[in-house]
Order: sequence, then C-alpha cells, then structure tokens
Amino acid sequence: MADNTTMEKIVSLAKRRGFIFQGSEIYGGLAGTWDYGPLGVALKNNIKKLWWDTFVDGRSDMYGLDSAILMNEKVWEVSGHTGAGFTDPLIECSKCKKRFREDHLEDTSKCPDAKCKGELGEKRDSNLMFETKVGAQGDTKSYLRPETAQGIFVNFKNILDTMRPKLPFGIAQIGKAFRNEIAPRDFIFRTREFEQMEIEYFVEESTWESEFEKWREQVLKWTDALGLSRENIREYEVPADELAHYSKRTIDFEYNYPGKGFDELLGLAYRTDHDLKSHQEGSGEKMTFTPIEGVPFIPHVIEPSFGVERALMAVLAEAYTEDEMNEDTRVFLKLKPELAPIKVAVFPLMKNKPDLVAKAREVFEELKETIPQIMFDDNGNVGKRYRRQDEIGTPYCITIDFDTLEDNTVTLRDRDTGEQKRIALNALIEALEL
Ligand code: ATP
Repeated sequence: MADNTTMEKIVSLAKRRGFIFQGSEIYGGLAGTWDYGPLGVALKNNIKKLWWDTFVDGRSDMYGLDSAILMNEKVWEVSGHTGAGFTDPLIECSKCKKRFREDHLEDTSKCPDAKCKGELGEKRDSNLMFETKVGAQGDTKSYLRPETAQGIFVNFKNILDTMRPKLPFGIAQIGKAFRNEIAPRDFIFRTREFEQMEIEYFVEESTWESEFEKWREQVLKWTDALGLSRENIREYEVPADELAHYSKRTIDFEYNYPGKGFDELLGLAYRTDHDLKSHQEGSGEKMTFTPIEGVPFIPHVIEPSFGVERALMAVLAEAYTEDEMNEDTRVFLKLKPELAPIKVAVFPLMKNKPDLVAKAREVFEELKETIPQIMFDDNGNVGKRYRRQDEIGTPYCITIDFDTLEDNTVTLRDRDTGEQKRIALNALIEALEL
C-alpha cells in the first residue's frame, strides 16, 4: 500500500479500468449495490477460487454446498433473524430526513451532516432482512437470505446421511447474501447485496477451544494468501456484552482500510450448538451426530465467515502502489499473481506491421491454452501499454518484435521491477511465476 493511498484513488481506478461500477448507474444508481466489470469479476472469481481451493478441495474434512437463496420463512424465525436479534438501531434527522445508524454516531442528538445539524428523532430498531413474496398469488412470505450460514444448518442432516463424515468436519459455501443496511457506505465495504464465503465446522463441545485456535491460525494464513500484510490485520476480541446471542466467543479480524482505519474483514465465531438445536426444535427433525460407539449428540460449531467484497477491497488497497519509473509517477497494483485478473499481456511492438501482429496473435493464442487469463494489446506505444497493464496488476508483459521473427525470442517484462529480459519462446511458460 502506498503511504498516500486513499479510497478515492482506489474507487477511481476500479471504475476507470473496469473493475467496479455503481449499480444501475445509468438510472442514477441504487444505493448499496455495485456491478463488477470484466476485471472485477475476474478478481472476485480468483479470490473465491483461492478460498475454495484452500478450505474445501485442499482439505479432507470439508464438504461443499450451494443452497438456495430463498428459504422457508420458518428458517429465519427459528434462527432469530425475524425478531429483535437481527436489527440495527436506526435514527432519522427530522430536518433533512437522512437516516443513520445510531451506534455509528458520536452525538445522537444532532444530525451529523454539518450543513444540516437538524434534530435527530427517536431511535428505532430496523430489521435488516429483505422480505419478498413467493408464488403467482404472492401468498408465501420469504426473505432474501441475510447470511449463507442457515443454508448450511438446514442441510446438516443431508450431508450426514449422504457423505457419512466423521467429526470434526465442516460444510462450506460461497453465495450471495442481502441486508437492508441503514447506511450503505465506504464503497464495497457495506453494501445491501454482497457475497459470503462461510464455513460451519462441527466439533465435539469439549474440543471447541482447541478447534477455535486452529481456525484462528487458518484465518491468518488466509489473509497471508491474499497478500495482506500482518501489520494491516488486527484481531478484535468481541467483548462478552457485545456478542451475538448465539455466540460464546467471537474474534473480528479487522483490516486497516485506507482513510477508514481498522474495520471488520471477517469474523470467527463459536456458535455453540445454538443453531442445530434451534432447528431441531423448530423442524422436529433430529440434528444429532451418532459416533460409532456412543450416544447421539448435537455437535457444536465454529464459524469462520468471510466477506468476498471486504476481501476484495483489502486486496485492492494493499496492492495499490505508486513509484517513480522513467522519471514518471507510476500507479500499479502489486497483486499476488494468482489473484491478478490478467496474468500476462502480449503485444506486437508495432500495430501497423502485419508480420509482427500475426506472430503476436500466434503467441497469444498458444499461451491462452495454458494461461486463460491473458490479454492482447496493440493500442498506443509499448510504454503506454506497460502502464495500462501495471494499473490492473498484470504480472508480466511479453513483446513480440522483429527479432522474434528471426530467432523466436521475446521481451519479458516484470511488473514490479520493470525489468526486461530476452527469453526464448519455448522457455517462456517455465519463466513465468504464476
Ligand atoms: P458489520 O458489523 O460490519 O455489520 P457483521 O458483524 O454484521 O458486520 P457478519 O454477520 O459477521 O457481519 O457477516 C460476516 C461477514 O460478511 C463480515 O465479516 C463481512 O465480511 C461480510 N459482510 C457483512 N455485512 C456486509 C455488508 N453489508 N456488506 C459487505 N459485506 C458484509
């Protein structure tokens, strides 16, 4: 992260280069929604793939799931989401009518907008769930899920019956979640539609503390894998009086977002047996695990819960770098190669030489078979093309010139150092550290 990295610079780069656009922009937007352009969706997919590779395919005690967004309304009654447990304190200015989260205000009597300073009204609890109607008659009430976790709990029996796992084991899923946030803000940090990557890890009660510690380490390793430096990560042990009703221990892992400071990146919670127990009572279905020789019991659960957008925002902030190159200030994203939306860019030295363009196309097509996230660019001069690739975090650029036509060598340029070296085409793939 550059010392002078600001959220404005990141937002502007994200828009200018096709990472993130305001949702429904041509109609003036819709607060709390964002659209991901070609590079944004690639970066998002790379983050999700890394997560799935790490926590599902990379382990033998995890089971993947993709449950429905719309669920029977009883799920949300039983989980406590329809009641007072899933509300934020809302307060409205009597003058400008703007709404705020009371717990985010220092002075709860006056409107925080300096130009307004109107009187703030009474605090009231605002439920965060989006309600919807299902069916042609619209007679069945449902909600857009506010977390993916409940989809995991209601499938606990299905996984037990079909996969026959041994304890401890986890169920993981990635999917959309929706919350009618009172004040969506800070770019993609607090939005009304977002994606979660959640794990419910089922354990025996007596082991929860040691399992929690293991997850704590795994979570930190994950932040390393994203390329986030440890000095920008802080653990916030949620005090007992702030814990959610189901939790006996929660650590919020916070990231030092530019211009914002430390705020929640992801959470690690010990949810006891609260959810399975509640669903057992609510549905009448047994939510017990039966050990080979022993009595059935309801497992306890450790929940690492990751937000895709908050990870993406941290990754962009951490990667944003400015340096001096060729007597010019250069902006580049120092992304880990596996996260970079484009891994390699291929250029013909000149656009108006058909032989060069044809050779560059040939190299591009061949590399694309092994490196699908690749780009061809023949616009402007090579220096400008380098800068454009730097700005989107492409680790390598390959230039095809007249010598290539003679001896099958190319220029390979490194994003971080700007160093260029001559390399034989057939040695290229091996030289790329992706
Ligand atoms: P906050 O206190 O910031 O509202 P939370 O504690 O309610 O977050 P959780 O319910 O623990 O969040 O959700 C797990 C993860 O989902 C969070 O750590 C975050 O990464 C992500 N998340 C939650 N709400 C939002 C949101 N409105 N926009 C983007 N990501 C979110």
